[in-house]
Amino acid sequence: MSRSNGTPDADRRRLLKIAALGLVAAPISTLLGREARAADAPPVDEADPVASSVAYKCEAAKNPKHVAGQFCDGCQLYSGAAGAAHGPCALFAGKNVCAKGWCTSWVKKAG
Ligand code: SF4
Repeated sequence: MSRSNGTPDADRRRLLKIAALGLVAAPISTLLGREARAADAPPVDEADPVASSVAYKCEAAKNPKHVAGQFCDGCQLYSGAAGAAHGPCALFAGKNVCAKGWCTSWVKKAG
């Protein structure tokens, strides 16, 4: 407590501030860690049997079945961060799909 004025009240206030910062920092670091893990996940291989079965393409425009205006980042099964280039999809555990990709399992994101 070298920066306090030495009174018990000042020390207690300082400890409360440190505790409050810790409570805020822990959830933030958990969220950042989750996003870092998602960002590190390998991309879905378009030749993967599951990807082929739903005609997944990283570039929706290259998919002849693509429906205009539908992209992975607007799909209910996509959980990538807003503005990210890629993110997880519930169809492909442990892998990332392209935010501007698309497949035939597209479902409009709720909300
Ligand atoms: Fe993209 Fe949705 Fe298909 Fe997943 S289910 S690949 S998020 S369109």
